[in-house]
Amino acid sequence: MLNQTRIFPILRIVNPATGALLREIEEDAPDTIREKFARAEAAQKSWAAEPLERRLAVIRRFRELIVERTEVLAAQLTDEVGKPIAQSRNELNGLLPRLDFFLTEAAGVLARETVFTDPAQKLVEQISHEPLGVILNISAWNYPFFVGANVFVPALLAGNAVLYKPSEFATLTGIAIAALLHEAGIPEDAFIPVIGGGSVGAGLMELPAAAVFFTGSYATGSKVAEAAARTLMKVQLELGGKDAVYVCDDVNVEAAAAAVADGAFYNNGQSCCAVERIYVHERIAGQFEKAFLDTVNGFVLGDPADGKTYLGAVTRKAHLNALDRQVKDAVAKGAQLRCGGHVIDRPGNYYAPTVLTEVNHGMDVMREETFGPIIGIQVVKNDDEAAGLMNDTPYGLTAGVYTVNQERAGKILSQVRTGSVYWNCCDRVSPRLPWSGRGHSGMGVTLGKAGILAFTQPKAWHLKS
Ligand code: NAD
Repeated sequence: MLNQTRIFPILRIVNPATGALLREIEEDAPDTIREKFARAEAAQKSWAAEPLERRLAVIRRFRELIVERTEVLAAQLTDEVGKPIAQSRNELNGLLPRLDFFLTEAAGVLARETVFTDPAQKLVEQISHEPLGVILNISAWNYPFFVGANVFVPALLAGNAVLYKPSEFATLTGIAIAALLHEAGIPEDAFIPVIGGGSVGAGLMELPAAAVFFTGSYATGSKVAEAAARTLMKVQLELGGKDAVYVCDDVNVEAAAAAVADGAFYNNGQSCCAVERIYVHERIAGQFEKAFLDTVNGFVLGDPADGKTYLGAVTRKAHLNALDRQVKDAVAKGAQLRCGGHVIDRPGNYYAPTVLTEVNHGMDVMREETFGPIIGIQVVKNDDEAAGLMNDTPYGLTAGVYTVNQERAGKILSQVRTGSVYWNCCDRVSPRLPWSGRGHSGMGVTLGKAGILAFTQPKAWHLKS
């Protein structure tokens, strides 16, 4: 029975590869959001009072459950977001080293530090790292295990309670994550899932929470930051990208083309750090484009549940139109359509992998986040031109250079305004390194040691004996 006071609709969860309805779930309403916040506030202090060893033990158990349930969780993720099953398994397996990083580093990072002692004055100065309180974790659908765990694992280890809103496109996975955390021993009220889409997210932003950790688009991220300004909650935003790769004239062209094509098309291009623009040196441009097209034409597109599939369904049906618009804009302005460029006529949301050449920065495909299986390849005369174009964007998540010469790569990458840079690799995230964006790619840090400290506030202790 629907409660009369609820104003939000039922969330319909649809398989993007078939259009079949998977489940219908009631969304949260303003009253249930407030009630969940009150429960989390009450639970946070006792959760923070648990010894760190106990909180670590719970995350260790969560890790064991992920290993035990990988197949079921991967199948559910594939059904819900259209990700090929092999890539869903990769996401779950890739979660393990992230959990290991947090499990190994949390005690050291969270320990109280003595930063100054003066025996003459009998003075000791120390810093302790207190939890923030109740935090909001508003998440995206493209890597729900990765981007979720980057936030909720260190947040819980640091003693925070979490209101976790999975994306409306990854709700079943979000509910499964909550169930696993509770089974592992996180108190039910220290981690509470909140169900719904954008209006529920906006409802969360009305709460007097300590912080919001948001993963999603620039457009939504700026609304979140605006709402956070009203209550002065801490804001951290992991947003989109227009990530560039430059291929120099000294590389093994076939190997570079295959690696960059994977960086552009893995997960159907729906990765925050997917390669979204390619610049190639004019001396190898023809050879590179041919090798790139050969790789793309070899990708197996189809049923995401099939282990051989490399390109599954595009998660959001509405996004197919946005993809089409980018291709039409580029072609109207003179780009060459080398493959793809259309929605595929079959049930589900499928877009043909698309390669455009003779592109330039007057075209949306080289300026706006694509977040799908479309890539533009632009020919450049030299490294300076490439570096200038790589920086010609409001985004700043990642950038890569392929060359045999480390010094050459270093010179270009040190000029590039992004949070991560890659030499001879791309589309890569390491738990040991801070993950951050510049400009429209966001603010704050997850992962690395800074990505644990982000969930704490320092307390300064001035101690005189
Ligand atoms: P989105 O911005 O549409 O939604 C993100 C989340 O915000 C969802 O949970 C949504 O329900 C919620 N939301 C929508 N409106 C809201 C509002 N007004 N107030 C509060 N919450 C609201 O993004 P998406 O489609 O889920 O994810 C794709 C985007 O995420 C891409 O731009 C991608 O690059 C980015 N992303 C970035 C990273 C990173 O690490 N930088 C990682 C993954 C995804």
